Amino acid sequence: MSEASDCLFCKILAGEIPSETVYSDELIYAFRDINPQAPTHILVIPRKHISSMNEAAAEDEAVLGQLLLSGARIAEQEGIAADGFRYAINTGEHGSQSVHHIHLHVLGGRQLGWPPG
Ligand code: 5GP
Ligand code: ZN
Repeated sequence: MSEASDCLFCKILAGEIPSETVYSDELIYAFRDINPQAPTHILVIPRKHISSMNEAAAEDEAVLGQLLLSGARIAEQEGIAADGFRYAINTGEHGSQSVHHIHLHVLGGRQLGWPPG
């Protein structure tokens, strides 16, 4: 899996690639997806480079908890919490993961289908 030095989202975190910030703290960064799949589509990422949930370890428990809690706060701020929203963490090839830095998709603002494709 990709290293931090060659990681798109690490470059976004470093400000080398511009992004539209939605939320930022010492552990977490959130920004709008460049190719939104719903009226609200935000990516929430840990500042620590972790390639995927397959590489996440017990020491990442706190940051991953913050990721989930931050997503819900962001959904509230974005005005999509009451109607409902979707979390997705695509993992590996069958999960259609394309960027190998853990990211929580927060999708909402329309009725979402289930099951996903
Ligand atoms: P994945 O397919 O790995 O779960 O999701 C990667 C997401 O990153 C996709 O939804 C894609 O649109 C988004 N993305 C890829 N490159 C960029 C970028 O340069 N900026 C932003 N804001 N989003 C990106
Ligand atoms: Zn990274």
